[in-house]
Amino acid sequence: MTRLFANCWVVTMDDASSEHPSGWVLVDEGTIVDVGGGPEPLAHERIDLHGAVVTPGLVNTHHHLYQTLTRARAQQADLFTWLRELYPVWAGIDAEAEYAAARTGLAELALSGCSTVFDHHYVFPRGRDGLIEAEVQAARELGVRIVASRGSMDLGASDGGLPPDDLVEDLDDVLAETERLAGALHEAGPGSRVQIAVAPCSPFSVTGRLMEESAALALRLRLLLHTHLAETVEEDAYCHELYGCTPVEYLEGLGWLTHDVWCAHCVHLSDADIGTFAQTGVGVAHCPTSNLRIGAGVAPVRRLVDAGVRVGLGVDGSASNERGDLFLEVKQALLAARGIGGPTALTAREALRLGTRGGAEILRRNDIGQVAPGKQADLAIWSTDGLELGGADDRVAALVFSGPHRVDRLVVGGEDVVRGGALVRADESEIARDHRVQARRFASA
Ligand SMILES: [Zn+2]
Repeated sequence: MTRLFANCWVVTMDDASSEHPSGWVLVDEGTIVDVGGGPEPLAHERIDLHGAVVTPGLVNTHHHLYQTLTRARAQQADLFTWLRELYPVWAGIDAEAEYAAARTGLAELALSGCSTVFDHHYVFPRGRDGLIEAEVQAARELGVRIVASRGSMDLGASDGGLPPDDLVEDLDDVLAETERLAGALHEAGPGSRVQIAVAPCSPFSVTGRLMEESAALALRLRLLLHTHLAETVEEDAYCHELYGCTPVEYLEGLGWLTHDVWCAHCVHLSDADIGTFAQTGVGVAHCPTSNLRIGAGVAPVRRLVDAGVRVGLGVDGSASNERGDLFLEVKQALLAARGIGGPTALTAREALRLGTRGGAEILRRNDIGQVAPGKQADLAIWSTDGLELGGADDRVAALVFSGPHRVDRLVVGGEDVVRGGALVRADESEIARDHRVQARRFASA
């Protein structure tokens, strides 16, 4: 059964950055068969998109879905103060709350055009099972792809770490549980809907030994490896004090600088660090809104891209970016880059590329992130007949400059996840109601 998405402006994000302003996309079940701008091919069904812009489904490369439960806390705090205030609150997480949080975060992302979500979960209070299973279930129900990570913290406050002692785990438990989840849930190969990554939280909440063992486990199980890095000046100072080097040098010493690794934030990188990332293939999840909200600074995206470093975008958790909208991050990446580098620092199309193809490269997915033959039919379809796009001839640039937008239609693996700006497989207001009930358990007294 073939479907032709016709009468649209297709932004392919292929190697040549091809666009078809009067184009079409031919889909057969879950796969893109052809794309072009010439005469339309025949199909079982023709869908007229009335001049909408079609982009690849967006790819989110850093998130903490559980944080939708604790928004707008520690409003003027730097990262470490923010974390110290929130750790004890997050200690209340269980599978029921995680499911409600994940449904909310994933629904928000889907409505912003995001078809693939990486989630970095690292809070595992003792005796609370099923947290990762809960978010995977939420993703399956909504119809989006998820890369869920079994994160970890094992460096408690009494050992010089940041998290409270009762929130850290034993190294052996972390590794065994990660391997169990990978065996139960990880899918390899094109079209995968659920994958597992290994993701110790950060150098200030994880021991060097667990960082090393995590890297070894990821290598053995052929999983991707992720952590937070070089987010704030305080982290830089902490690293110097505890380990006598910069965060990147620290990772290098742990054998972490390899091609299957990506790090969130990377705001504070030297030219030498950027060169090291380019050489070793380490990628960066750029989270501009979160970095600005925490007052951490702006990652050197122009220099990273120019050096050939893989860069994707992330909304980061909703406790440091209260809006889980990946299209907003596309616009924010552009604005933040221009704020420090001037009006030519990043183009609208470059920003959009970071949020699509860039994210796919971060997750080492060759099957998504492009509207091209043979790729998964993950399409974000953006109406261009609303008030905010009037007067714009370049509808692609205008879409980015005037973002964020609610996506009109989101197709994942050929199946509709959003249609007419509404979730197809779930009820948005029911998700919001359920989430409010769960979030009340985390309310500040
Ligand atoms: Zn984060």
